[in-house]
Amino acid sequence: MTKIAMKTPLVEIDGDEMTRILWKKIKEHLLDPFIDLQTEYYDLGIAKREETKDRITVDAAHAIKKYGVGVKCATITPNQSRVEEYGLSEMWKSPNGTIRAILDGTAFRAPIVVKGIEPYVKNWKKPITVARHAFGDVYRNAEIRVRDKGEGELRIRYADGGEETVPIASFGGPGILQGIHNLDASIINFAHACFRFALSTRQDLWFSTKDTISKIYDRRFMDLFQEVYETEYKRRFAAAGIEYFYTLIDDAVARVVRSEGGFIWACKNYDGDVMSDLVAAAFGSLAMMTSVLVSPQGFYEYEAAHGTVQRHYYRYQKGEETSTNPIATIYAWTGALRKRGELDQLPALQAFADRLEAAVVDTVELGIMTKDLAAISTLPNAKGVMTDEFLQTIAEKL
Ligand code: NAP
Ligand code: MG
Repeated sequence: MTKIAMKTPLVEIDGDEMTRILWKKIKEHLLDPFIDLQTEYYDLGIAKREETKDRITVDAAHAIKKYGVGVKCATITPNQSRVEEYGLSEMWKSPNGTIRAILDGTAFRAPIVVKGIEPYVKNWKKPITVARHAFGDVYRNAEIRVRDKGEGELRIRYADGGEETVPIASFGGPGILQGIHNLDASIINFAHACFRFALSTRQDLWFSTKDTISKIYDRRFMDLFQEVYETEYKRRFAAAGIEYFYTLIDDAVARVVRSEGGFIWACKNYDGDVMSDLVAAAFGSLAMMTSVLVSPQGFYEYEAAHGTVQRHYYRYQKGEETSTNPIATIYAWTGALRKRGELDQLPALQAFADRLEAAVVDTVELGIMTKDLAAISTLPNAKGVMTDEFLQTIAEKL
């Protein structure tokens, strides 16, 4: 059999622990036999980040800017116990945070839907993708614990002189005070990422804020989305047969629950943080969530939404076989390969991505799955198998 050829390398970003083991197995069983895989490899395993003083993470992000498409394995975000475990000279920052800052991207998270893993919301038939704005608001807030009586106010001092002040509250006693901000440029980038993603996946785009209460702040999000839509996307949406729809977040929540799914729900930073976890859990399994970071310039980075599955790795190190679910990591690869195929006009590569996903879905729907899924599957014949057996079954189907 001749292998499928590629034109442009994928930026391959390796990671840590159990997902690093899965990474190698996925390539060996499901990719290398079928594709003449071309990648530019970046090792973001914690040892290499330490050795390069995290330079490797920055290099990987720049490589995505150069080639356009990357695929990333889950990585450790160090905390104090990781610093001790791996003898790190510094508590290196979250690689995802570093990459997101360089690409200025928006994260889109979507569940992988299979028969037998049923959403808790029974009318959800198609995935719901949550697009989270990943800048500003409460994540970059300033807060004061007000100790006693006083006047709270909001003030901006302009660089060119002049200032505006708005009273917030007269404190009659102790309380709390918070300031948040956002930037037009970031909101506009967010809007572009959402509209582009909707076009590239041919799904409707919903956007919701609390503009009735926040008449300047949330209203600005709403207005900027509308402007970007009218000037750049309205005609393209009509041509693609998809819709842009703005509504109040309260209304959106009710509609999402009553919907069949199959759309993108753009949310402000906090809403997106909370709603993406809610949607993921309601679809049945956190191990079945994919995530793609899309930059306003049209660069893509695909990954699984889960972490490095640390507990399984410790068992693996003791020589035990594990039943770790590789599906979200496989979908990170298929997402990246499909996008590469689309950009390079390689229909064979796109078709391969579709076939690999179909092989995964068929395997699970036939009742063969990892134990995390077997535990929640509604199939009568669901059988929990180890990772290797699961991957081999997928490979045979493929
Ligand atoms: P995690 O790796 O997502 O795992 C949490 C638990 O969820 C696991 O112990 C396992 O439960 C279950 N699980 C998650 N993915 C699974 C899979 N593919 N197959 C089977 N079970 C799965 O989260 P964590 O243990 O809190 O974090 C571990 C490391 O990952 C941390 O160092 C964190 O910094 C990092 N992290 C990285 C990313 C990223 O790179 N995108 C995201 C999140 C976390 P059982 O043990 O009960 O089987
Ligand atoms: Mg969250």
